[in-house]
Amino acid sequence: MKVSSTRNNRYSPYSGVVVNTDRDVDLVLDFLNTVDVELATDILGDPIGWSRWLADRGLGDEDMVHVRAVRDGLRAVVGGAPAPAPPPVPVRVELVDAAPTLVAAEVTGAVLAAASRLVVLGEWARMKICPADACQWTFFDRSRNRSRTWCSMRVCGNREKARTWRERAKVVD
Ligand SMILES: [Zn+2]
Repeated sequence: MKVSSTRNNRYSPYSGVVVNTDRDVDLVLDFLNTVDVELATDILGDPIGWSRWLADRGLGDEDMVHVRAVRDGLRAVVGGAPAPAPPPVPVRVELVDAAPTLVAAEVTGAVLAAASRLVVLGEWARMKICPADACQWTFFDRSRNRSRTWCSMRVCGNREKARTWRERAKVVD
């Protein structure tokens, strides 16, 4: 039996098969970041861009109202703008290589199946949204103690530090 020892491929305690955490993290992040607050763009509002996004990942399309509700609901769950809870999505359990596996052909099912695997591995709490109003980028906190707040300390963290400093300076004046 081949045992993978790379940092991000682990044995799921449930299925006994190697779970590719990086692939799941990337899929969830890419989906949640289809909206870019900083650039004021939304791939879900761009039919050509959205078709390409799906094709790149080999996923099937769905009703856009449903896709948007799932995305916004999931973003709210990880700390984004408030939104109603995401609606249920169809996911099947099939035997793949003799292991029960979550399977979905459509995009929302595939994303939520990936998110479920991260929950099982105890990694879901690492999924975060940058609290800077102008950013709100979703990122996966790989820090050892899960203490990362900003998407990038260099950009948003420093911007916030500067803002706090200016406000303090104002109070002193
Ligand atoms: Zn940020």
